[in-house]
Amino acid sequence: MKVSRYLIPTLKENPSDAVVTSHRLMMRAGLIRKESAGMYSYLPMGLKVLRKIINIVKEEMDRAGALECLMPELTNADLWKESGRWYTMGPEMFRIEDRNGLEYALGPTHEEAFTHLVRTVVSSYRDLPLNLYQINTKFRDEIRPRFGVIRSKEFIMKDAYSFDVDEKGLDESYNAMAKAYRRIFERCGLETIPVQADSGNMGGSASEEFMVASEIGEEVLLLCDSCDYRANSEKAEYRSITAESEPQESLREVHTPDIKTIDDLVNFFNCQPDKFFKSIIYVYDGKPVMVVVPGSRDVNEHKLKNYLGALELELASEEIVIKVTGAPLGFAGPVGLKDLRIICDVSIRSLCNGVTGANKKDYHFAGVNPGRDFEIKEEADITIARSGDLCPKCNGKMYEKKGIEVGHIFKLGYKYTKAMNVTVLDEKGEAITPIMGCYGIGINRTMAAIVEQCSDDKGIIWPKEVTPFHVHLVGIAKNDEEIRQIEEIYDMLIDSGIDVLYDDRKVSPGFKFADADLIGIPLRITVGKNYFAKGEVELKERSKAEALSIAKNNIVAEIKKYYSA
Ligand code: ATP
Ligand code: MG
Repeated sequence: MKVSRYLIPTLKENPSDAVVTSHRLMMRAGLIRKESAGMYSYLPMGLKVLRKIINIVKEEMDRAGALECLMPELTNADLWKESGRWYTMGPEMFRIEDRNGLEYALGPTHEEAFTHLVRTVVSSYRDLPLNLYQINTKFRDEIRPRFGVIRSKEFIMKDAYSFDVDEKGLDESYNAMAKAYRRIFERCGLETIPVQADSGNMGGSASEEFMVASEIGEEVLLLCDSCDYRANSEKAEYRSITAESEPQESLREVHTPDIKTIDDLVNFFNCQPDKFFKSIIYVYDGKPVMVVVPGSRDVNEHKLKNYLGALELELASEEIVIKVTGAPLGFAGPVGLKDLRIICDVSIRSLCNGVTGANKKDYHFAGVNPGRDFEIKEEADITIARSGDLCPKCNGKMYEKKGIEVGHIFKLGYKYTKAMNVTVLDEKGEAITPIMGCYGIGINRTMAAIVEQCSDDKGIIWPKEVTPFHVHLVGIAKNDEEIRQIEEIYDMLIDSGIDVLYDDRKVSPGFKFADADLIGIPLRITVGKNYFAKGEVELKERSKAEALSIAKNNIVAEIKKYYSA
């Protein structure tokens, strides 16, 4: 491909709305253009990269035994109503009507669609297992589309759904995907950190997210400094340290006018935040519950929701707080509350002589001791783990990293097959409900994550497998004869099956080199005065500072060597 005939509108300046590296570089290298907020077009070179990622994903999915399908983007509202998600997906789902008033959603994900497809094509246990996938557009009306294609309103996802007759089968399907995902990202040249993720009520190691470590990541990961424990912050277990015991003080009521927040309390009582039994009222599936955590910690609502087995969980309104505690916001506590369900974090039991709200306006209790002053009826890990906490698996310490989620594998269980009445007949002729797994990869986000990870201050440095071209040929010619000689090399490369981008423009060498560095093709070949004088071209790897001089006859072999290594 000749640059003069191609479409690579590189930009010298960073677009003003591009705040992260991948967005800046993908715009500047002429890979994408913004249509409007959260919507991007792919130009020819950007599309080439996207297709390479798609091909890797396809090859590995096929290799793992998954079967490719293509589903409509318009998904029937009836299916969403069957699963119940028509009512719970909220404003993230784009909903439209046809001319007859029939309702549809532009697919944000396709569990319902695939579950429906499967119920129309399988009838016997012999038809399973099945793992069906597609590589297709998803639509999500994100609250904050940002970071270019990392969070957009319309993006390409590989989504796969497995159907098995039993949990053992699901384990196998899931493990095949766990393996395939590792291969996919490795082949894309992307280093990922697989972390345990929240799996709703499925428990165990039933969900893994594939994260790319990055300062711009929106996910917080907790990693152990001495074993391989890795989890996202929704899932990471908190292992509490037993607090030192002290002689028990007597329980006393303290007048605390207008002292409501933990900061106010720390100043007023002149003690550490962990001396407070932070008591928060939630409403789960319509019922109130109090949760008690140490004052320095936050409630992990994912853990709480799983513990409660709740479908809905939200903070209680002040009205409900007043109703269940008898006091306005800021004065709730577990002492003396008989009729309310109370769940204490695992660390509460060992805290002594603490402070908590007295369920009375402008009053707190001090000298509070669990067991003596209130009973711990329910105890669970319901706080957010953080840097410095003990690893739940060994004696190491956990530290935090930020990450971009590029893929997610998940044991779904029976949620959709039950809601949508999917059954097959087992060996005995009895109807059984298949169990599902689901597996997603964001193709565009993966591309952006590669750029985040594989770039320097000059531009992108594409990994071999996803580079838009194999070689960037830079010609520096002074006359037609020299141009002819460069074109000979260009033709030779094409004839050898090498995908070459030839910069044939009449611009300065410095300009061409800057564009080559920006675009980031891993190999650059410069044909200039050394070639016309001594028959030598310059071969330079984008990731290295030094270049090699090689003879024309060795060019093809050197390129092939690089790509087969
Ligand atoms: P996030 O927490 O980032 O919103 P998600 O949990 O909603 O992601 P899934 O529904 O699991 O994501 O989708 C599977 C994959 O699709 C994600 O791992 C991610 O790579 C990609 N993805 C999700 N939302 C977007 C988006 N708005 N733009 C681009 N890619 C996305
Ligand atoms: Mg999302």
